[in-house]
Amino acid sequence: MPHHTPLIGTIVAGLVVAFILGAIAHRLKLSPLVGYLLAGIMVGPFTPGFVADANLANELAEIGVILLMFGVGLHFSLRDLLSVRMIAVPGAVGQIAVATLLGMALAWTQGWSIMGGLVFGLALSVASTVVLLRALQGANLVETRRGRIAVGWLIVEDLAMVLALVLLPALAGVMNNAEAGAGMEALLAPLLGTMLKVMGFVALMLIVGRRVIPWALHWVVHTGSRELFRLAVLAIALGVAFGAAVAFDVSFALGAFFAGMILGETPLSRRATEETLPLRDAFAVLFFVSVGMLFNPAVLVQQPLLLFATVAIIIVGKSIAAFFIVRAFGHPTDTALTISASLAQIGEFSFILASLGTGLGVLPAEGRDLILAGAIVSILLNPIIFSLVVRDRKEEEAEENEEAATEKPRMGHVILVGYGRVGKLIAMRLAERNIHFVVIEGDMERADEAEEAGLSVIRGSALEDRHLIAAGIGKARRLLIAVPEGFEAGAIHQHAYHLNPAIQVIARAHSDAEAVHLEGLGVPYVVMGERELASRMLVLCGAG
Ligand code: AMP
Repeated sequence: MPHHTPLIGTIVAGLVVAFILGAIAHRLKLSPLVGYLLAGIMVGPFTPGFVADANLANELAEIGVILLMFGVGLHFSLRDLLSVRMIAVPGAVGQIAVATLLGMALAWTQGWSIMGGLVFGLALSVASTVVLLRALQGANLVETRRGRIAVGWLIVEDLAMVLALVLLPALAGVMNNAEAGAGMEALLAPLLGTMLKVMGFVALMLIVGRRVIPWALHWVVHTGSRELFRLAVLAIALGVAFGAAVAFDVSFALGAFFAGMILGETPLSRRATEETLPLRDAFAVLFFVSVGMLFNPAVLVQQPLLLFATVAIIIVGKSIAAFFIVRAFGHPTDTALTISASLAQIGEFSFILASLGTGLGVLPAEGRDLILAGAIVSILLNPIIFSLVVRDRKEEEAEENEEAATEKPRMGHVILVGYGRVGKLIAMRLAERNIHFVVIEGDMERADEAEEAGLSVIRGSALEDRHLIAAGIGKARRLLIAVPEGFEAGAIHQHAYHLNPAIQVIARAHSDAEAVHLEGLGVPYVVMGERELASRMLVLCGAG
């Protein structure tokens, strides 16, 4: 049966095994990426058992790359980049140079070509966005200055890699011609040709795409069909990427990146991101699985020293370079350590470069295996390194919170979780009525907002006991859970109930299932938006 449906078999095997191993990784508090890569190794040709179709997996992975790069483009913000350019640009360029040279040196000891060394070095120099954002989010650092520098730094790295993806094929052509003893003209022609094509594509996107794409999307929004909007976003991402590849000979990645960037400038970017997320996640998983499939674990046994050197470049070499660059620009040690630790790993871009390198015939398969093994090891070690060297923002805030807690909560006060659309309205009314309350908010910008409004705020997630304690849960009378996720509200309720069984909980739910879930947990008051809307509308029409 599977012989007749290789495409379905590959998708299903990829997703199912990735799900199982991703879930196990999650349980072990590891990055799910590790689970996906291991899933790929399991369904790959180098381990016994089921073998998925590698060619199909590669094509599916390309869709993953397109959607990932589209996402990078959507998030690419020139403003964010400009605000940290003084450090991010020289920092990223310097770090890429150091890591690439180290990689080239290692490649040289193995007798690989200069081009092979270049691809290998570049692949070791660029960190994974997915891993970086997870690490920063875990430590609540995304919205701090050091977090912004780290993200800006990564954007510069991404841009450098986009350029590398464009230029490497041309450069490989030049090198081949040079070896064949061709003249200067024959050497430069492919390079020039590529540059021209890229410029043509960029110009077309900036002049025509920038007008047509937002216009088309706007039109679709006004049709009011969510399905059409979703389809439009996907059609733009995939269509531009494919069109760019066919008409201009540039990579899918570059085309998708530009499509994303243009959409990112429009006010619809947030919706576009949300609508493509599920598909992007699914195909990104297939991308990681297909990368895992290429990995030959034999490298672990045959080349342990080389692997050790590769990991050392990723973790030690890059970190030291980043640390000194950041310090040289006069930033504090805390910042330097955060940047070094968050970039001490490699991921999706390295895989894209590795496949390109082997595809062009410049990077030996051994180099690709080293990159993959280096990625797996560095992603595994990253959270450990991060927690060792980076002072968590939560720790800083826990101290502040403790101080705040000693003075703020009063007997019988109210705790309000979430200062969003609903929480803000509640806070306003409570303040008007002089009811004492403390806000717990996990989003730093919103917490700042609440503080500016003069409220008592505990920063952090209400899912953590220490934040509930800091808000004075033991003495509180009521807990209002104004977060949009009913199941999360249920978990918060359980923590709170454990700390103070007498507390009266009022929670917000979005669906019947959530309301039933909350009621089942014993939450005495559950307010469901749609039910309230319905009863208010009925009242207004005189039928309530
Ligand atoms: P909204 O959906 O606009 O009402 O916003 C909900 C708010 O709740 C957001 O500002 C979230 O940051 C916040 N929030 C969600 N979960 C938690 C949590 N576990 N702890 C604290 N704040 C949360």
